[in-house]
Amino acid sequence: MAIRLHNSISRREEEFEALEPGTVRIYSCGPTVYDHPHLGNWRANIFVDLLKRYLIYRGFEVRHVMNITDVDDKTIRGARETGMKERDLLNIDPADAYPKATGHIEGMLQLVDELRTGGLTYESEGSIYYAVDRFPEYGRLSGIDFEGLKPGARVDVDEYEKEEARDFVLWKARKPEDGDVWWESPFGEGRPGWHLECSAMSAEYLGIPFDIHTGGIDLIFPHHENEIAQTWGATGKRLARFWLHNEHLIVDGRKMSKSLGNFITLNDLLEDGVDPVAIRYMLLGTHYRQLLNFRPDGLDGAATSVARIREAARLWSERAGRTEETGALAGEAEESAASAVETFTTALDADLNISEGLAAVFDLIRSGNALLDRGLGADGAGVLHRTLTGFDSVLAVLDGGAGENADLSAEILAMIEAREEARATRDWSEADRLRDALLEAGIVVEDTPDGPRWKRT
Ligand code: AMP
Ligand code: ZN
Repeated sequence: MAIRLHNSISRREEEFEALEPGTVRIYSCGPTVYDHPHLGNWRANIFVDLLKRYLIYRGFEVRHVMNITDVDDKTIRGARETGMKERDLLNIDPADAYPKATGHIEGMLQLVDELRTGGLTYESEGSIYYAVDRFPEYGRLSGIDFEGLKPGARVDVDEYEKEEARDFVLWKARKPEDGDVWWESPFGEGRPGWHLECSAMSAEYLGIPFDIHTGGIDLIFPHHENEIAQTWGATGKRLARFWLHNEHLIVDGRKMSKSLGNFITLNDLLEDGVDPVAIRYMLLGTHYRQLLNFRPDGLDGAATSVARIREAARLWSERAGRTEETGALAGEAEESAASAVETFTTALDADLNISEGLAAVFDLIRSGNALLDRGLGADGAGVLHRTLTGFDSVLAVLDGGAGENADLSAEILAMIEAREEARATRDWSEADRLRDALLEAGIVVEDTPDGPRWKRT
């Protein structure tokens, strides 16, 4: 059986085949770093994490790149470290590379140059625009009909409404309000349009076309439509084979977002004592193309489910160490395990149908625990345990990043966070004071290139 994924560009499920057999190259539009990520952003990340983990479960190697939209180095360090720490708490596997926009201006300028040479751009008042009516496929991903598009109507802003679809800016002429955020270029001083970074960095880090491009559905237009136009226009190649988009996390019927002010951060929930793995489970458990309504009481159910999975793993591994009647009921355990694996795999093969996948996990837990009551021996318990940890390589709720840190108190987390902030603002004496206070509380913090890690003394 092959994996099938819903491809936004064809609007249907298609059989997935890696462009280079055995390896899947994935690009995800990442966060704008000066924003502290909220649970909606984490939903997008956990969807990609599920996708990656399942592809690995099915034997693929995965190379994953996520861009970081930075503006300048000074403002971002604190936000980035907070983001990485939260990512670890949610058991999200890191990407293989996190290229930063400001480090790739050269590649973006080259794209603009190629588009210009290809006759797809024009200049106005020092800015360069993409003339979208010269790219016949414009609108294919979003399905927007651009019949009424007025040639020459253009926007300078990076995000705009559907009705306003028009020529978008590739290079923005420098303005006084840009402060010191501008670059020299063959087109004059200025800064790149936001859509350029993904076309430039995905090509550099993955090569084009790559296998899968992901993002939230809000990015389909204009961002992804413009990425496609840029890459195709400059190179004549498709950007990605598959486009996968996650639905939104909503609160009271509206998208969770910074601008609506209805957002909740991971830290808000940690302060209430919620286990980050329960949050992961909640964000993971609804199919990625369905709206997910955030309700705090949904976290109780998630915590219970996680506890049941952990309890089964504990009981089964305990039984796997028993020495008498090791072979008892092994055949039945093997049958249950094989049937669970088959149901789990069939479900996730079908565009990552996680709810059916989880149902298979809980079926196994029910039948496995019943076997335990009937005197299951070590061999069968070992089979059950291995099957469950196999599922958990996809679900990642047994341990991992949260593991021993899961029970860090809100107070300790707040101290770690405050120390990062102090470091970001170069307040070394405050950072040292907090490090000592943490040490007193039994926590050692080490600074690594990926941000701080901590462990118990
Ligand atoms: P942003 O920081 O807003 O650029 O978003 C980073 C990623 O999170 C993008 O893929 C967005 O589509 C996604 N995202 C933002 N808000 C939500 C939400 N409420 N639900 C799901 N994904 C979201
Ligand atoms: Zn992007």
